[in-house]
Amino acid sequence: PPGTATAAVDTTCGYCGVGCALTVHTADGAVSEITPDRRGPVNRGHACVKGRFAYGFTTSPDRLTTPLVRRGDRLEPAGWEEALAVVADRLGGIVASSGPDAVAAICSARATNEENYLMQKLMRTVVGTNNVDNCSRICHAPSAAGLSAAFGLSGGTNPADDIEASDCLLIAGANPTEAHPVIGARILQQALSSAKLVVIDPRRTALAKIADVHLAGTPGSNVAVFNGLARIMLERGWIDEQFLAQRADGLDELREQLAWFTPEQVAEISGVTPQALLDAARLYGTAGFPSIIYGLGVTEHAHGTDGVRALVNLAILRGAVGTGRGGGVNPLRGQNNVQGASDMGALPDLLPGYQPVADPQARGRCEQIWGCPLPQRPGLRIPQMFDAALDGRVRALYVFGENIAQTDPDSGHVRAALDACEFVICQEIFLTDTAQAADVVLPGASFLEKDGTFVNFDRRFQRVRPALRPPGLARTDFEIINAVAVALGTDLGCPTPSQALDECARVAPLYAGISHIRLDRDGPLHWPCRSPDEPGEARLHQESFATPNGRAQLAARPWLPPGEQTDARYPFVLITGRRLVHYNAGTMTRRTLNLRLSPRETLDIHPADALALGLRDGDLVEIESRRGTVAAPARITGDVSAGQVFLAFHFPEVAANLLTSAAVDEVTSCPEYKVTAVRLRRC
Ligand code: SF4
Repeated sequence: PPGTATAAVDTTCGYCGVGCALTVHTADGAVSEITPDRRGPVNRGHACVKGRFAYGFTTSPDRLTTPLVRRGDRLEPAGWEEALAVVADRLGGIVASSGPDAVAAICSARATNEENYLMQKLMRTVVGTNNVDNCSRICHAPSAAGLSAAFGLSGGTNPADDIEASDCLLIAGANPTEAHPVIGARILQQALSSAKLVVIDPRRTALAKIADVHLAGTPGSNVAVFNGLARIMLERGWIDEQFLAQRADGLDELREQLAWFTPEQVAEISGVTPQALLDAARLYGTAGFPSIIYGLGVTEHAHGTDGVRALVNLAILRGAVGTGRGGGVNPLRGQNNVQGASDMGALPDLLPGYQPVADPQARGRCEQIWGCPLPQRPGLRIPQMFDAALDGRVRALYVFGENIAQTDPDSGHVRAALDACEFVICQEIFLTDTAQAADVVLPGASFLEKDGTFVNFDRRFQRVRPALRPPGLARTDFEIINAVAVALGTDLGCPTPSQALDECARVAPLYAGISHIRLDRDGPLHWPCRSPDEPGEARLHQESFATPNGRAQLAARPWLPPGEQTDARYPFVLITGRRLVHYNAGTMTRRTLNLRLSPRETLDIHPADALALGLRDGDLVEIESRRGTVAAPARITGDVSAGQVFLAFHFPEVAANLLTSAAVDEVTSCPEYKVTAVRLRRC
């Protein structure tokens, strides 16, 4: 058993959505080494600096080891019995006086599928509300909306192995070399050996530097650039007429819309030259097996869903989806289990397996298995939860494994919402900014201490196994959610993670063939996997698309300006994102040796802008947006374009999200992290 001797446990990385298979070696109850597993289907024996070395946080003296309960201004240690009694009393009281919709929960894209399944079940069956969401809302919700509308399913279409089957890779709004390093390395290798590489990104990323064509469109210009590419492909005949006739709808409407997107018009909006646009269209449009891989630079915009639809159009026009090996459209998921949290129904409008809560048949199946009536009206999305807290409609917020006070946009607004709630529960492994605002803090477990599954970016269920015990009185999140349900007077009926996934397989036909037993015996499985006899679908839409008429849907989308504009007072565009060594809020990686490799955040600024502002490398710069001000040392680099700056959000002392705006995608409420107007001043 873990903690008593030397051991080696096979599990899945808990950082990014690549889903690398790792072996965790322990001695005397602590991690001694993590090695990448050669049997891992995605990483094939590789791992990055996070998965391999960022484990020291597990023994940090900062770990939460006991529940905390607020007494006056202070959070003080308490026993589980007291903490759970406070939760039951306060939550129960709010539901009794204001109804179930006065409670909302934010699930965790870091936690296992089984924990997310249990949390949404707790909210729907015990509390009685659909006010449950997860952080895909603030990253890939436009992918879910866009891919579902185009193809009928919200997952990426092709497995990671198809990178090596592609002769042209189009990477849009993603910097996988830093954010998804193992996939970044596979793309790099394929581009250096045989494939053409097109990168669409405002920054000069590592892949952009070796690309055959780099389109550095201004932030917020994606739809114009994608439509410009589509127009050229149509004009030049770089399309698959047979595929379009047999398997797609919407060509006439799209053709009409694209008339506006002349190369000159696109150049005016984006700064991309007509020649570069033509070169990129030629490479993608004439390749045999072109693939699209994209990231949050496509989705985190005020028109992020339009961006996904316009990008997907290219694959449909080219007939490069649902046609076998190579090709496809794949979103790179940010957090390790952001795909799984959504798959499990931690969404306000969808039950497990993407079944609409408004669909009586889907609801009926869940009601029969869960044994109680379910709320019918879709619940609140994360940004709506904050607004509802401020106007009094939401009185209690349950935040599970997300540091929303650091990672969500316009964090002043988020902190005000936390303050406005009468009761906040935070389930965490450290006393984060969000936990400090809570009334009850429940000490959870890290991925190295859990049993369950994650789903990675190419829809693969993979096993997560515990190598360590949670410290002190901390419990796995699975145990905590079950205990909260019991405190509220109900047994959720899923005593183990294995039984929870078995129940989910009965609720959601997409995962009917997936179980811990099968994963332990056969290894990772892709969804859809509709029966225990099926192998799982690595490549989607081979026979037909999952849309109501079985055909892919092209989308005619206009270009609309970003939600936030620069002006004379705020002349620079700030782009936010991640860096190689750290991960999201940095809660874990800043408590490891990785901190030595990257001890502080910097503001990336172009040499011409630095010169104009009289800045030298390392000078402290004040960065002010319409919502707040932070300061960071300058890092002068040609990796950003003139007029644009870049900041990561890993360090609370450089709180990038104090700056970001409340503008959101009109379809999904995904925030516009990638366009913030700022001004700069040397401190
Ligand atoms: Fe973990 Fe992602 Fe690095 Fe793989 S690439 S080791 S999944 S952080």
